[in-house]
Amino acid sequence: TTTTTSPSRAAALDVLHRVWGYDAFRGQQAAIIDQVVSGGDALVLMPTGGGKSLCYQVPALVRDGVGVVVSPLIALMQDQVDALAANGVRAAFLNSTQGPDERSRVERAVVSGEVDMLYLAPERLRLESTRSLLDRARVALFAIDEAHCVAQWGHDFRPDYLELSVLHERWPTVPRIALTATATPQTHREISGRLGLDDAAHFVADFDRPNIQYRIEPKTGAMQQLLTFIKTEHSGDAGIVYCLSRNSVERTAAALADQGIPALPYHAGLDAKVRERNQSTFLREDGVVMVATIAFGMGIDKPDVRFVAHLDLPKSVEGYYQETGRAGRDGLPSTAWLAYGLNDVVQQRRMIDQSEGDAAHRRQLSAHLDAMLALCETIECRRVRLLAYFGQESTACGNCDTCIAPPEPWDGTVPAQKFLSTVVRLERERGQRYGVAHLVDILVGKQSPRVQELRHDSLATFGIGNDLGEGEWRAVARQLLAQGYAAVSGDGFGTVVLSPTSAEVLSGRTRVLMRRDPVKAPRTSRARRQ
Ligand code: ADP
Ligand code: ZN
Repeated sequence: TTTTTSPSRAAALDVLHRVWGYDAFRGQQAAIIDQVVSGGDALVLMPTGGGKSLCYQVPALVRDGVGVVVSPLIALMQDQVDALAANGVRAAFLNSTQGPDERSRVERAVVSGEVDMLYLAPERLRLESTRSLLDRARVALFAIDEAHCVAQWGHDFRPDYLELSVLHERWPTVPRIALTATATPQTHREISGRLGLDDAAHFVADFDRPNIQYRIEPKTGAMQQLLTFIKTEHSGDAGIVYCLSRNSVERTAAALADQGIPALPYHAGLDAKVRERNQSTFLREDGVVMVATIAFGMGIDKPDVRFVAHLDLPKSVEGYYQETGRAGRDGLPSTAWLAYGLNDVVQQRRMIDQSEGDAAHRRQLSAHLDAMLALCETIECRRVRLLAYFGQESTACGNCDTCIAPPEPWDGTVPAQKFLSTVVRLERERGQRYGVAHLVDILVGKQSPRVQELRHDSLATFGIGNDLGEGEWRAVARQLLAQGYAAVSGDGFGTVVLSPTSAEVLSGRTRVLMRRDPVKAPRTSRARRQ
């Protein structure tokens, strides 16, 4: 068969060979590039590592004028510009890190047509000076990178992105391409609406990352679990370990280094020089483990990250997907490993309660957390759940922990009722509220000093749960909190209170299906490399 190649496709391929040395476009790249080269708008939803950059870089070089790339990732602009320059592309950026001299040098070059690609921080576009600069230049296209930042519903909202509607109002003939690796149907709609891309061509890629094995295990001793995971499955591999706080980043990095694992910390509290040095060590050397807060990784292109580990529960499925997506960009087997426990649920519910913002905002944070908890507690294939969240249907994958070692579901209604009755009795009979640890002591009938002091051994529910162990009770509590049948009070102490749906369980109207925690974490040959 003969394929006819349009002149613009030929020009795009020529740029691809000449500038990047690649042979062919991948996936939907060719169709997206055709659309933009011919002057049309595009909205691109493609997972991390899918090859989004070329979708605007190639058209920027094929079309006349400067390709303007709006990106929130100011820290990466220098690297991006350097990488393009190394390929012979005339690239520049404008952001707040520059002095006035440097800025006017770039502006002059843009106006005189000496720049092929200009990276702009979104707040620059609020300035009339930037707008009039673009009036005087010939603009090939606008690329809006990390476009999910415009979505207020999303996990990464940036108010400056709302102003990007100026692009098509002020320069209606310049094609726009918006790109993101976040693709929940809701975020998709919001990007399309807010950026005026309802009439654009929408390209939604397959979000599955088949080479990533998803695993979520209950926390027993998180540090030891992490060590075992790295040592037995990823010894000598490059990886990223995500922690929520700077403190735990420091502690974890030190603990790993203690065990002979080359680990480096990365968080916003570190000196910029140290951060830069650690990042470049991670990128350039083999087998380095970066222990980081979520500030690390956006836009980092290291193909051979073999694992991403989470020691704290991500706040949303979008965040989890993006962070785990930094593993295995080279397509080789990689692991996404998360340890999660009761305290994660308590802590995050509490943080939401105490967060700034209105009730609607808190409801939204809760919905994000609930979806993440549902992924953790599912007895179905993790990948099926994950892809379903992005509106994509799939069948059981065979490469996640629940597929490899299907967890046993069990009817936890009776333990749930015992747990909730204890909460009720303490509240009704004594006007008291407690955290999970004390509730479990009462249920298993433990004569702890606190139990004795408070005379909680005289409660009717004292010892009624001695058929389960303390670990199992903590799992019951975790799942009740995860499923919303119990709640954490807003007092800041992690005390357990009834939720609006507790009554359904107490009355027996609702049965509570639980997941029995595996005795030992599953492992397979697919997780290891030959
Ligand atoms: P994303 O921005 O979607 O995360 P990138 O644009 O960084 O992805 O691309 C991921 C990797 O794939 C990069 O190393 C890039 O050079 C490479 N890549 C993208 N498209 C092609 C292609 N058509 N041929 C070969 N390599 C490609
Ligand atoms: Zn699966």
